[in-house]
Amino acid sequence: MATIAVVGAGIVGVSCAWFLARDGHRVVLFDPVDPGTATSFGNAGILSFSHCLPVGHPDLLKRLPALVLGRDPFFRMRMRDLPRLTPWLWRFLGASRPKAAHRIAAQLVALVQRAEAAHREITAACRLEHLWLEGGWLKAARDRARFLKAVRAERAALDRFGLPYRVLEGDALRELEPALDPRITVALHLPEEGRVSDPYRYTLGIFRAFERKGGRFLRSRVRALVRRRGGIRAVVTESGEEMEADAVVVAAGVWSAGLLAPLGVAPPLVAERGYHAMLPHPDGPQLRRAVLALEEGFVLAPMKTGVRLTSGVELARAEAPPTYAWLRARVRRVGEVVPGLRPDIQSEWMGHRPSLPDSLPAIGWVAGIEGLLAAFGHHHLGLTLGPLTGRLIADLVAGRDPGLELAPYRLPRSFL
Ligand SMILES: Cc1cc2nc3c(=O)[nH]c(=O)nc-3n(C[C@H](O)[C@H](O)[C@H](O)COP(=O)(O)OP(=O)(O)OC[C@H]3O[C@@H](n4cnc5c(N)ncnc54)[C@H](O)[C@@H]3O)c2cc1C
Repeated sequence: MATIAVVGAGIVGVSCAWFLARDGHRVVLFDPVDPGTATSFGNAGILSFSHCLPVGHPDLLKRLPALVLGRDPFFRMRMRDLPRLTPWLWRFLGASRPKAAHRIAAQLVALVQRAEAAHREITAACRLEHLWLEGGWLKAARDRARFLKAVRAERAALDRFGLPYRVLEGDALRELEPALDPRITVALHLPEEGRVSDPYRYTLGIFRAFERKGGRFLRSRVRALVRRRGGIRAVVTESGEEMEADAVVVAAGVWSAGLLAPLGVAPPLVAERGYHAMLPHPDGPQLRRAVLALEEGFVLAPMKTGVRLTSGVELARAEAPPTYAWLRARVRRVGEVVPGLRPDIQSEWMGHRPSLPDSLPAIGWVAGIEGLLAAFGHHHLGLTLGPLTGRLIADLVAGRDPGLELAPYRLPRSFL
């Protein structure tokens, strides 16, 4: 039995902590805020088990002028942060070229295809079945030609990996989702994607199960990782306390890079910031599943307490002030997608998708530094991949075969 420190209590950190505690290790989880209250609090709850298109891909390169000119409803850039973001963007563009994107897609699919089993395992063990929703989700549009262009690359990738999808039109779409505006005529249905009704409660449920297994939570920021005799041997908290550990898992989301920098490990991690607004349930027919509105630029995810509208990506420094005006502009258009939905914002939120330029997370032992494990960089897929990451980390600590070649996800690695 080993003593393991897990830094960060988002979905990734609590999943690592739970799987490690399940194996019988003494696990201490550190976070200065309550578990699950950072980025893992406010996502759309989608379990993207058929996600096979890297964030950067050749079709996206074709949309570059629209992205740069602010004409893409899913993207905005804080221009004054451009100099700081340029090195990341440069590598992102490299990873979006055909050959690289083709390889990365396969490495992404190797993860998402294993993600459901890890969710099912943790859901059953932590008794969280009541939060699961079935039925997949939709990417919907009014204009057929624009729709076909927008989903072209995704459909090609789904075909390549034999993953299920349907294109629904007219009555078939209306029957599946009667709440949609009748002018929305076509949609991509991803039937096997899962969803949780409340991503925060899901993370919290795993955390509570971790505590029931005897895991400890210390409400403290880890200030430094202590390197002695070639390996990480302890963590130092902000109050100056040192806690010895046989291994340390860095699962601090977008803040992970700051912890690793003093050790000479410098993963190019940025925040793909994203927003949500909670809206009251619509008058009239309710949405049955999450819907991505391709032309309007948001996702609508029905949850217990209302409908959550989530935004696309704002590239900006993590610590820059939020741009709620961008979110509100999207909220004003909700009635165009679901006529009974009113743009009455009940709460607003911003989170930080932790993103590496090659659309792959960092998972595994950090080469050259004994006792250090990386578990961050899950960008748009942190909820989807959190439990799998926890299971892989526990396999590595136990010396078990993780059943997957982990080299593509290890640090340090080349980011093109
Ligand atoms: C709008 C939006 C919609 C999304 N929708 C989806 C979706 O539908 N499906 C999906 O799979 N993903 C989705 N995502 C992505 C997903 O939410 C993230 O990938 C995921 O939450 C990242 O989890 P994490 O545990 O890595 O980070 P976080 O949840 O951010 O947790 C990191 C934790 O580390 C802590 N920390 C930082 N520094 C330290 C330190 N020095 N010491 C101790 N603790 C520290 C922080 O306080 C924080 O609690 C969405 C994201 C956004 C923004």
